[in-house]
Amino acid sequence: MRDFDYKKSLGQNFLIDNNIIKKISESFVVNSDDLIIEIGPGSGALTKELIKKGCNVICFEIDTRLKDKLSLIESNNLNIVYEDFLKVDLKEWTKGYKRLFFVGNLPYYITTAIINKIVSESNPYEIVIMIQKEVAERFMASPNSRNYGSLSVFLQYNFDITKVCNVSKNCFNPIPKVDSIVLKLTKNKKEQANNENQFYKLIKDAFSQKRKNLRNNLKCYDLDKINSILNTFNKDLSKRAEQITVSEFVKISNELN
Ligand code: SAH
Repeated sequence: MRDFDYKKSLGQNFLIDNNIIKKISESFVVNSDDLIIEIGPGSGALTKELIKKGCNVICFEIDTRLKDKLSLIESNNLNIVYEDFLKVDLKEWTKGYKRLFFVGNLPYYITTAIINKIVSESNPYEIVIMIQKEVAERFMASPNSRNYGSLSVFLQYNFDITKVCNVSKNCFNPIPKVDSIVLKLTKNKKEQANNENQFYKLIKDAFSQKRKNLRNNLKCYDLDKINSILNTFNKDLSKRAEQITVSEFVKISNELN
């Protein structure tokens, strides 16, 4: 966009590659009674594709300076709301829809906060997001790898995660410092933790100090009990959290009840 003062503080790097825009839009399939929520439409490059999919589209954009540009996109299935996504009442906006699809080239500085909000305040069917490559690697990391952490466990517990495409930093204006990846998160709980809050707390505690072992990070838990569950996986309290699989964390949490 010419004559636009891009705000780095709002993660404003707008997509200019039509190929990528098409790939994102074509990566998921909706019915007419579904809802697409776009987070941070910017100048509307992706929005223009999303409205063609047929269901209602609601966009949340924090920067009111984009009104001039976004109001040019007219479509009776489009509603653009100028608010901070982190502050909107998601339950209210999503009422009555069959399935919820969240899409966005996310402002990187709030990627995790956005995902936490989506998961805790709604029941998303799919989330298709562009995020910085390093963060995508953490989302998808397997046990025993450097990037595997509580975020990986949290997301892999809730979703199947697949890569849609890589996106070079040259596909944006202005050009950011890092490359990006588009990921698709599809709701799929393979195993259910009996008490999810307890499960989330367990993984947070287990990874609280990355270099320490489970015995140290889980001091406040019934260590004997945890040790005997770990033994059933041929592991013990000397392991670190990064050596424990999602399914093992679920089993530990369920035994703690
Ligand atoms: N989707 C567009 C723009 C991506 S840049 C494209 O791909 O071209 C990120 C966008 O998110 C910017 O428009 C920025 O203003 C917006 N944004 C940043 N923080 C936000 C927030 N908290 N809530 C809603 N939008 C936000």
